[in-house]
Amino acid sequence: MERKLITGAVLVEDGEARGTRADLLMEGGLIAAIFRGGAPEGIDAARFNATECAILPGLVNGHLHAHSNLAKGMGDRWTLEMSLTNAPWISGVRSLDEIYASAAIGAAEMLLKGCTAAYDMCLEFPLPTIEGVDAVARAYDDVGMRATIAPMASDQPFLGAVPGLRDHLVGEGVEGLPQMSSEGPEGLLARFRALAQGWRWPSEKIRFGLGPAIPFICSDAFLTGVRDLSAEFGIGIHTHVSESKVQTVVSGESFGETITAKLHRLGLLGPRFTAAHGVWLDGDDMRRMADTGANVIHNPASNFRLGSGVADVRAFLDAGVHVGLGTDGASCADGLNMFEAMRLATHASRVFGAPVDSWIGAREALQAATTGSARALGFGDSIGVLREGSAADIVILDLRAPHYTPMNDLSAQIVYAEDGTGVRDVFVGGRCVVRERRLTTIDYDRLRRQTQAAADRLHGANAQTRARLQHAARLAEAYCRCFISRETPARRYICE
Ligand SMILES: [Zn+2]
Repeated sequence: MERKLITGAVLVEDGEARGTRADLLMEGGLIAAIFRGGAPEGIDAARFNATECAILPGLVNGHLHAHSNLAKGMGDRWTLEMSLTNAPWISGVRSLDEIYASAAIGAAEMLLKGCTAAYDMCLEFPLPTIEGVDAVARAYDDVGMRATIAPMASDQPFLGAVPGLRDHLVGEGVEGLPQMSSEGPEGLLARFRALAQGWRWPSEKIRFGLGPAIPFICSDAFLTGVRDLSAEFGIGIHTHVSESKVQTVVSGESFGETITAKLHRLGLLGPRFTAAHGVWLDGDDMRRMADTGANVIHNPASNFRLGSGVADVRAFLDAGVHVGLGTDGASCADGLNMFEAMRLATHASRVFGAPVDSWIGAREALQAATTGSARALGFGDSIGVLREGSAADIVILDLRAPHYTPMNDLSAQIVYAEDGTGVRDVFVGGRCVVRERRLTTIDYDRLRRQTQAAADRLHGANAQTRARLQHAARLAEAYCRCFISRETPARRYICE
């Protein structure tokens, strides 16, 4: 691969309010050198002019769902429980081309908004297949992003996991609904094993992970099997933990312990473990996460959109938890925008009336969205940082944009004002994948047409199921409200 020298830009660095003037040399997919003050004469490399621009490490989305990319704008007023009830029609009867298009349009959107790697819990209804997961991996590879792909599965249906819910629905005349799971733990574990053994993508680009969907709909046999596969193949586990109060209360009452205590007891927590959300983690749960080196991915846009509550990120950090940042799926964080995630992370920390020292600051949000998430994806410190020897995953921000004018504090203006419109160019592994705000890797207009056609076809194909599940979801939400009023150690609604 040719040597490229990015010239004339400033680096986003701590301690320099307006950034550090520097040129950056890329070679072999890595950052070969950073010349603060400017490169010496005579370097043999192709020049890439970035005058009046800033160089930011590629952002890393710690949690999303490829299948949700066809569901943007749906479920205007859905809780998490309504979203789970509706999941079978949102993801149902997809062809491999439609699975591919759904993943590719998300990857395209993230790259155009400065995100170069993502942890994707994709879902294939009713069960993950080798071909379906491969279609997701191919989409990321074609568009030019890094990813860790953890297909979701569970061996127990959501509607059966909430005490009394199924009987309530039957009483309302609703039964025989399609469910997300139809296979026992052995079958699901065999699928995961086959995927891990047959993984054909280079681990420095597209990694495989294990996605037990939500622990409260996973049996102990399935969870411990996932734990063993993670150890055997050295791959990550990604799951949703204590996202909503309903799940947190139901789990506590069903298990006699918190979800996190159970995961700890079963031996799943550790550096390869990533918990999405953690909104309702209590102090003991946070210590368990911290002591074991587990990762928690904060998803403020989704938490607000679904009314899930506000995670206490300052408490995570004080406890020593590794914190990353994510968007969650486009059905509940529609624009897959990591700049928005950073901004909301700072804002969310300020709703409880706590002293300003406990608020999440711009630099902390930036760190969570880069090195924090990178650790969770399993890429360690090879991405998310501007350092010689790290991957050349780089975002060029156009500082002529109004939100950088005047320039007062570059990091703060990126977090508080950038919306993605300042992203001019993006490199992944030294390859220019976005040039002047356009993808260089794929025919975007063709992908756009494919994605719209997929959504239109699925809209018709799932029409009947949709009507039944939307009705069931409203009943389920009304039923689940009884759990919202229960007392919990954690208080994550501002009215509590
Ligand atoms: Zn999620």
